[in-house]
Amino acid sequence: MAHEQTFWPVDAGNGEPDLWVCMSCLSEVYKRKVPMPHCPTCQGVSTYEVFDLASIKDWGTDELVAKAEEASREVPPPPVESFAPPLEEQPAE
Ligand SMILES: [Zn+2]
Repeated sequence: MAHEQTFWPVDAGNGEPDLWVCMSCLSEVYKRKVPMPHCPTCQGVSTYEVFDLASIKDWGTDELVAKAEEASREVPPPPVESFAPPLEEQPAE
């Protein structure tokens, strides 16, 4: 029987970083939640710090970046009503 990991939910504002990385083992990352009572990999307590995906890609290992990308897909982003400007093809001169 698998031992199920429990989490503290963490709220994040719009556009705020919401990926929590364990700074102790740098191999666990969760979106908008942190494992309780401790990190499942290194058993570190209060070792999680929040980052956005771009900065994790900046310094994270390939494995951590892959996990972060997976985590960021976990929760569908809230619908954003925006008017994205159409991409204009600029002819190269
Ligand atoms: Zn850890």
